[in-house]
Amino acid sequence: MERQLEELKQQLEKQCQINQELKRQNKDLEQRLQEKEKLLSEYQDTEFPSQSSNEAEPEVRKSRAAVMAPEPIPEDLEITSNRVKKTSSETDLIVKAIQKNDFLSRLDDEQTAMMVDLLLAFDFSPGKEVIKEGSEGDTMYIVAAGDLVVTQAGRELRSLRCGDVFGELAILYNCKRTATVKAKSLVRLWCMERQTYRTIMTNKSKKKREQLLGFLKTSRTLKDLNDVQLSKIIDSMEEVKYQHKDIIVREGAEANTFYIILKGEVLVSKSVNGYQKQIRRMGKGEHFGEQALIREVLRTATCTADGPVTCFSIDKEVFEETIPVEHLELFDDTKVLQEAEAPEKLSLSSSLKFKDLVPVLYQEGRYQGEKVTLGVGGFGRVELVTTLKHGKYYAMKRVSKKQIVAKRQEEHVLFEKKILKAIQSDFIVRLHGAFKDSRFIYMVMEFCSGGEIWTKLKEVGRFDEAISVFCAACVVEAFAYLHKKNILYRDLKPENLMLDAQGYVKLVDFGFAKEMVRGEKTYSFVGTPEYMAPEIIKNQGHDFAVDFWSLGILVYELLAGSPPFSSSEPQKIYAKILDGVIKYPPYLNEAAKSIISKLCRPRPGQRLGNTKNGIKDVRHHRWFSSMNWHKLRVGQVEAPTVRLVRKGPCYINFDRFPCDQAKVEEEFSGWDRDF
Ligand code: ATP
Ligand code: MG
Repeated sequence: MERQLEELKQQLEKQCQINQELKRQNKDLEQRLQEKEKLLSEYQDTEFPSQSSNEAEPEVRKSRAAVMAPEPIPEDLEITSNRVKKTSSETDLIVKAIQKNDFLSRLDDEQTAMMVDLLLAFDFSPGKEVIKEGSEGDTMYIVAAGDLVVTQAGRELRSLRCGDVFGELAILYNCKRTATVKAKSLVRLWCMERQTYRTIMTNKSKKKREQLLGFLKTSRTLKDLNDVQLSKIIDSMEEVKYQHKDIIVREGAEANTFYIILKGEVLVSKSVNGYQKQIRRMGKGEHFGEQALIREVLRTATCTADGPVTCFSIDKEVFEETIPVEHLELFDDTKVLQEAEAPEKLSLSSSLKFKDLVPVLYQEGRYQGEKVTLGVGGFGRVELVTTLKHGKYYAMKRVSKKQIVAKRQEEHVLFEKKILKAIQSDFIVRLHGAFKDSRFIYMVMEFCSGGEIWTKLKEVGRFDEAISVFCAACVVEAFAYLHKKNILYRDLKPENLMLDAQGYVKLVDFGFAKEMVRGEKTYSFVGTPEYMAPEIIKNQGHDFAVDFWSLGILVYELLAGSPPFSSSEPQKIYAKILDGVIKYPPYLNEAAKSIISKLCRPRPGQRLGNTKNGIKDVRHHRWFSSMNWHKLRVGQVEAPTVRLVRKGPCYINFDRFPCDQAKVEEEFSGWDRDF
């Protein structure tokens, strides 16, 4: 009897201890949630910067990054709006306004000229609202005459006058206006809609690529290359401008660059008995120096600009990185990917039934008894569910169908499911079932119980080298798998990386993924500002290279705690990305700086991972020298991240979210027939 009593007492004490520990963890979590809520409310995505623009930069990225969902804009839309003739003083005002704007100043001469051509004039009488806070924006404005006032929540922020630009974020993507702008006097504005802007940028880039492709095809040296390879060369080429009489190449000099003439004329001359004899004149579309790409030669003639000349050029070194001339094969990743493609049968949902899934409830804390929510994204929420039969946990993402239709994301959702269903990689979250009813679509995924890399990063500030290398290596494996299947990921960031119980990293959220044909480009504006590659911002058309860019940003953010290009104002982020200057904290070592700068090269064709050896070059970079890739692929590397994973209730590694009270409307349009 006494022994039993003693045992009971011991058990009780133990239980008390556990309760206390749970209480402490709960307090800890609540405090973190409060901090997070506070930070979220501080973060404001403002389109109307305060006049003092020299604010101190944030040390760390405090809030989750906002995402830009691509809109399905027809890609070869003709510009229907009429060109409006402008007087020279009007043109002057517009060009000056463009030049002093952070973002627009990066347009090139031709783009600026097109913009000037296509701006439309509108007049507003005093007191009239041009932009309303909270409404969706699709137009940007340049003040041609008159004064306006900017207010936010009734508070006056600043005034706008002749030559000021406002609302320019709206030409990049669909965003909510963060302030109201009203005419104070009679006002005339130059306006441009997003559709027009995007059409200008896209059409121009497409036409230019087609033209360059045509030019390259006339080169004898390059004639054996296919379109995919020629397209890669174009990605690596750079535009160079010459003034009248500039010597572009000099006879007798070492040759290492190939040129195509885009604009202007070039005189070719040879030295004969001590004087320069002109042998020919070349114009647009012609090229010279192609021999330089494949052998060691000296220039056999001098080429001089006759008037202003613009050329597109590529150096031998870059060319060699882009195209292996001896054997014309790209992306030799076969070994890894064969393994990844091992015929494993997909077990999608044959056994898992929707009715068998029950929600897991919080066991304690302020949401005790409510459903466990693992995350809330831009479109849906992800809840923890289990089956009564075998007690396995799953993460179930549910998204309102009405909202999908409202945001025109039908195709993305269908594609997300299609991709996840087809994927068999240990570095990508698995889909176990997909269901729908009249209100929601549901995706039942493998539960990654270790939580988000984002949360862990915020907890510790920044990761050490070993953890960063490991996380990045898992992403490299995920990308190798996806790219081999011709899938572009486009949304890499710590928020979309999850840890499993062993600390292995998995990619989640395929909302922005896209299937692509090699050599082709896609033109949508998509991603998360901090992680966007310059070619996306410039609407130049993008491809697999954007994933390598974002990998560079990720490596930086993991090591430094915040991404290299950041600001509370998206247009400032874009401006910084286009400037491309990365400042490294002093504690980053040489290898880290080297891999980041190689992954974040502005020209997609020169980016590590996107040159001739493909992703192999990333794996072989010295920053990854400690990584045993084979062991990683078979799950035999001990994950240093495991120390970030907490032990406790199954939701212990996640922030807590209140239950979703919102009433959701039904949706019957039938877009989800194939879901
Ligand atoms: P976004 O705003 O990023 O587009 P989304 O609505 O597409 O969000 P996801 O990013 O897929 O949703 O998921 C939202 C969050 O839910 C994630 O950040 C993560 O915290 C959690 N989550 C998603 N999938 C899983 C999973 N398989 N296991 C555990 N948690 C998950
Ligand atoms: Mg996400």
